[in-house]
Amino acid sequence: MSDFSTSIIAKDKCENSEAKSEEIKQWLVSKDIIKPNLTDCTLSENLGYAISDGAKKITEYPEYLPFDLRTNGLEITTEEQDFTSGEDIDIEVVCKKCNQESEIPDWEYIDETEKFACPSCNEQYPINDLMGETVVYKSNLGFTFWNTSDFTKEFLDEFQQKLGTEIILINQRI
Ligand SMILES: [Zn+2]
Repeated sequence: MSDFSTSIIAKDKCENSEAKSEEIKQWLVSKDIIKPNLTDCTLSENLGYAISDGAKKITEYPEYLPFDLRTNGLEITTEEQDFTSGEDIDIEVVCKKCNQESEIPDWEYIDETEKFACPSCNEQYPINDLMGETVVYKSNLGFTFWNTSDFTKEFLDEFQQKLGTEIILINQRI
């Protein structure tokens, strides 16, 4: 499986991004979501905070948390930069015919000219049509989680509250 990241970024420019990032970091450490020390656990050249046991409580799929991967950490950005989604695929799709929600399995990614068949009614869709748009968003405060995703709504709500500004999620697959 390829590496992926989910960035939680502040929608509006943050006046004191350094202080805010430290506050959020302390909060995440206090919940044992991340380890308190910087290590080489991200795919970028920056160091990050390794994901810890408490992260199981903030994702919908704790059984998939790859604690053993080298790349499984949080990278914090406090300088303005573009957060890009890359060529993302909407993994969850809603069938236009029967309205049933389903997930595209990983192997379907391989060939974009392939078709995806709805498991309920067998209606076929070109994978290409299901490609998400590349999203670019500028922010001076971003929290990029490597190989940890599908955060619970409770966690995202609390994150937004702590941050004090609206958040945007950017998913990237590498
Ligand atoms: Zn269908």
